[in-house]
Amino acid sequence: MPSLERWVYFFGDGRADGSAAMRDILGGKGAGLAEMANLGLPVPPGFTISAKLCLTFLEQGTLPDALRSEVDRHLKHLEQSTKKKFGDARTPLLVSVRSGAAVSMPGMMETILNLGLNDATVQGLLAGSKNPRFAYDSYRRFVQMYGDVVFDLGQEPFAEVLAEYKRRRRAARDIDLPPDDLAAVVREFKAIIQAKRGVPFPDDPLAQLWGAIEAVFKSWRTRRAIDYRRVHGIPDDLGTAVNVVAMVYGNLGDDSGTGVAFTRDCRTGAPTLNGDYLTNAQGEDVVSGVRTPEALAKLKRGRLAKVYRELARVASRLERHFHDVQDIEFTFEHGRLYLLQTRRAQRTGLAAVRIAVDLVSEGRISPDEAVQRVPPRDLAQLFHPMVDPHAAVTVVATGLPASPGAAIGEVVFDADEAATLAQRGRPVILVRPETSPEDFHGIVAARAVLTARGGMTSHAAVVARGMGKTCVVGAQDVVVDPAAGRFRANGRTVKRGQVITVDGTSGRVILGAAKLVEPKIGSHYAQLMAWADQRRRLRVRANADTPEDATRARAFGAEGIGLCRTEHMFFAGDRITAMRQMIVAPDEAGRRSALARLLPMQREDFAGIFAAMAGYPVTIRLLDPPLHEFLPHTRAEIATLARAMRLPLARLTRLVASLVEVNPMLGHRGCRLGITYPEITEMQARAIFEAACRVVARGTKVVAEVMIPLVAEAEELRHQAAIVRRVAQEVFQAEGRAVPYAVGTMIELPRAALTADAIAKDAEFFSFGTNDLTQTTFGLSRDDAGRFLPFYVERGILKEDPFQVLDQDGVGKLIEVAVRLGRGTRPDLKIGICGEHGGDPDSVKFCHRTGLNYVSCSPFRVAIARLAAAQAALEEQGVTNRTRATV
Ligand code: PEP
Ligand code: MG
Repeated sequence: MPSLERWVYFFGDGRADGSAAMRDILGGKGAGLAEMANLGLPVPPGFTISAKLCLTFLEQGTLPDALRSEVDRHLKHLEQSTKKKFGDARTPLLVSVRSGAAVSMPGMMETILNLGLNDATVQGLLAGSKNPRFAYDSYRRFVQMYGDVVFDLGQEPFAEVLAEYKRRRRAARDIDLPPDDLAAVVREFKAIIQAKRGVPFPDDPLAQLWGAIEAVFKSWRTRRAIDYRRVHGIPDDLGTAVNVVAMVYGNLGDDSGTGVAFTRDCRTGAPTLNGDYLTNAQGEDVVSGVRTPEALAKLKRGRLAKVYRELARVASRLERHFHDVQDIEFTFEHGRLYLLQTRRAQRTGLAAVRIAVDLVSEGRISPDEAVQRVPPRDLAQLFHPMVDPHAAVTVVATGLPASPGAAIGEVVFDADEAATLAQRGRPVILVRPETSPEDFHGIVAARAVLTARGGMTSHAAVVARGMGKTCVVGAQDVVVDPAAGRFRANGRTVKRGQVITVDGTSGRVILGAAKLVEPKIGSHYAQLMAWADQRRRLRVRANADTPEDATRARAFGAEGIGLCRTEHMFFAGDRITAMRQMIVAPDEAGRRSALARLLPMQREDFAGIFAAMAGYPVTIRLLDPPLHEFLPHTRAEIATLARAMRLPLARLTRLVASLVEVNPMLGHRGCRLGITYPEITEMQARAIFEAACRVVARGTKVVAEVMIPLVAEAEELRHQAAIVRRVAQEVFQAEGRAVPYAVGTMIELPRAALTADAIAKDAEFFSFGTNDLTQTTFGLSRDDAGRFLPFYVERGILKEDPFQVLDQDGVGKLIEVAVRLGRGTRPDLKIGICGEHGGDPDSVKFCHRTGLNYVSCSPFRVAIARLAAAQAALEEQGVTNRTRATV
């Protein structure tokens, strides 16, 4: 039965079968080409084969019969449109075959240019152009790309041959080789294919075309494409479309060329057209970083100024049409401009913020839309450290500042090594002559990327920027020798393992670890966050344990502290000694005397935090971790402690051993400590209320919330809350003033969630400790899961690490139950979350939908949570993002 489905869509001659709305079928590239054709912009004609065929082809290995005739028909159409003929020896039609999925994956899949060439058609190309160098350069490129992509031979065997010819001729660029050499290179390339694959290079253009179409579909499943999708959360089942486009030539001489333009600066967001171009070159030369291109601004003056003016005109038209910054690929052939692609430009977080705010000022989008446009996670990039401008540094080289921020790490020259070392927690800087998509996993693993070659749109630059990773490219003075494990630059040698600093903001490569400083936040950010704050319903607090953290949290806009982990205070200075004395004390009296020494220290910390939060609520959690965490474990350390405490070594050793637990996370911790040693709870409550009274006495408002951890049973909370409330009364009486406070609990065990109605009788607030709740719901140890969770995520058994992104189906269900039960008992129950998930955008949105009052996260993620909360509120009102996330 003939298929009723349509597989192929034509564009060109001022019209198209498709449009920008058909990304799912046409992919981003195909949709953009169709839309540009519909707008009457100069696009070479071509057709797009539906992405819907990709997965079926990958699974079944065949394409529908109907596709063949559809492609034939569209080839005929293309021939009419270009007045050329596919496979014709006099006026040959050549095409490019390029991938393009619905979501942009720059450089991740395949492209083949100049398809249709063979020994006969190359003569036609030569006769038509009267430029033998151009004809054979095109032929050489085609066979090379075909060998790499379709025959899967990689670039190496071909690059070696080419390099050898260039060496012999002392030619700087490929195109500087004489035509005879290029023809000889073509023959050698074909011989390589024959030798390595045992089949001849296909001379029949139709066979070439089908080979290329299948290879493009297959490129959806290359390792780098899969890795890229994983990092950027792109679904695996989209598939790629295939675009077959009539060739236009950037390698026809110095009045021809190719480039990439951005309608605004995607590093800073500044509203200036910018990009790179190369004359006498074809598309891949610019992005691959093989040649270092010129800045687009150079095109403004001189012979090619007309091309620039035309480009500026269409660039602004495209930006206005798509309501967003565009990344445009273009070619000019004898001074005539053609657009080959337009897509939403990837941008740094800094640029995303500025662009969103500027587009509102320019009246192009509404503030609601601006808030929806910035991916919350990208805000983290705004807080990147920078190299201290006053620090004395040794600059070994300077390149192009491709992606801002500064990073310190040890030099590695290989992507696999970068990944291995990073997994062991070592900070690494990936240094390459240039990167290719094969290096993707190394870029992911590295703190920063440095390349010797390539421009602002090179692979490394685009990929790193998309990830918000510090990157410097085109550091021309750097000569990388990966085999020898070193690079040289300006008379210096830097070896593998040596520490450098990469400054992606200025382009500098600095020897050693430079002093870094925190960034300053600009007015665009302030404006965007003001809009976000006006729109969100969720409050955002921070997890902070010290007055310094609390101050930082306020600077990030935190509206309180959702979790102060008091145990962190016990490690500082000589406090650990008092803490240890408390633990090893033989009886209650001994414990009380040690606690009495801890009291003033805790009081001082709490006072500092209350003062920093100036009337915003502060949730202080009572002691949570198992006591053995405070004790030393090695023989030598135990001996030192025994001497300090004047205890017999054997006794202390026995004591330490007696505290060891098989399963400490499920052991003597949380409120179980306060129940067995109520004097600990008493001391902490006293420190909290005394601090509160003293800060209030100095004229600062205080709202104290005392939180009992790891409650599983209502009775546990009742026991602890009674102590806290009694101590509060005692302190208020003694101090002669009362301070508003509340007693609540963490909900971090499934039983607590399921009995939340009973627990709410004694709790004035709940805070979901989703770290423990995830651990106990999954039965998955937080400390050991690292051994197998990555495997689960890689294999797709779990979509995400549930310790990072809240498991809404399981843990989320417990949260919903607890909210319902808790508010059933106490309708005004205040509810928050303080596990790691409080700073994860998707989890924040879940918290909004579930009716929580606030989320609490690390100070650096407060801005992310504020923006995500605003987006959740807008989503609820049906304001959705018209464009995709930047990465
Ligand atoms: C939690 O369990 O989510 C929590 C915030 O507490 P901690 O991580 O300290 O166990
Ligand atoms: Mg916990």
